Amino acid sequence: MNELIAAAVQIEPFLIEFRRDLHMNPELSLQESETARKVAEQLATLGLQVRTQVGGHGVVADLQGGQPGPTIALRADMDALPIQEETGLPYASKRAGVMHACGHDAHTTILLGAAQILVDRKEHIHGTIRFIFQSAEEINQGAKSMISEGVMEGIDEIYGLHNLPTAPAGSIATRHGALMGSVDRIEIKLEGKGGHGAMPDQSIDPIVAASAIIMGLQTAVSREISPFEPVVVTIGSIQSGEANNVIPQYAELTGTIRTFSPEVQGRMEQRLRRIVGNIAEAYRCELKMNYIEQVPVLCGTDECVDHVERTVDELLGRSHRIEAAPTMAGEDFSMYLNHVPGSFFWLGSGPTIDADLAMGLHHPRFSINEACLTIGAALMAAICIRKR
Ligand SMILES: [Zn+2]
Ligand SMILES: [Zn+2]
Repeated sequence: MNELIAAAVQIEPFLIEFRRDLHMNPELSLQESETARKVAEQLATLGLQVRTQVGGHGVVADLQGGQPGPTIALRADMDALPIQEETGLPYASKRAGVMHACGHDAHTTILLGAAQILVDRKEHIHGTIRFIFQSAEEINQGAKSMISEGVMEGIDEIYGLHNLPTAPAGSIATRHGALMGSVDRIEIKLEGKGGHGAMPDQSIDPIVAASAIIMGLQTAVSREISPFEPVVVTIGSIQSGEANNVIPQYAELTGTIRTFSPEVQGRMEQRLRRIVGNIAEAYRCELKMNYIEQVPVLCGTDECVDHVERTVDELLGRSHRIEAAPTMAGEDFSMYLNHVPGSFFWLGSGPTIDADLAMGLHHPRFSINEACLTIGAALMAAICIRKR
């Protein structure tokens, strides 16, 4: 067995225990204080200098290798989701309505495992390794905040992973080029003129305007963008009205826009403003609209993707590497890739022992196969111990 895998297997009981503790005590985005404290404590135990409260509850530590070389960053996210866990597992969330349903508990644990493996080998490490534990990934804020506090300064390359419950533990999925979509947020507030539901002529109905806008937005994709360019426009919330016989004053919509190319993303705001603005005007509603660019397309650097692929092949064998399908889901890891070269990849985390629990990310019955913890830790470590 590869010695890094062996080292990870040796610390497996710790990894499982640490991850289950995080799983039982999940914290929402920007509230990860307990998680951050546990992470910082563990890093300090390894003898690392730790910086806390970096861009929210972010934790950063540098490991100085014994040999000269570049500075490589490894990143994990720590936040949980506002979901009521329904797994019934003995270590299920103890917090009502909060759950690690995206497996960030596993990501955090894996990076701590990699830190331990690397600390034990620091004499042989070329350069510096920066461990970045990020808060608020789920709300697309953590990476941005950490970058603004300088965590990318001096970094030559960055690597990160996300668990993937639809691929078996032991497999790694990589992809050259775009891997995940861009994420923009749209907020629309329409003001009409409230009145009696029986006298629409004396009112301005924001619900009818909102309905027209929702339908109109679909043509932005189907009639204005090449069918060879993937784009998603989803209106995910509509709020308006209280009573069946009252025309309300306001209607509010929020939505998400996903694209797979920076050029297409760059043109969406102007396009949606035109459609929404003109429809609102046609229906005589006052419009307030915010268009917020949150996360760019996640696109790995070719040499870094190659590096991950070679490392997987050496560590696990070529048969364990699969081609990742592109997804319109977003990841704020792409913010780091706007600053430095790097690669993001999927770590197989399924199926669970109980096949009934093998649910997707963000599901109330989501769970991971804990076998992915040692593989993730060994792989993250291997990425940093490269032959030069
Ligand atoms: Zn998520
Ligand atoms: Zn996630």
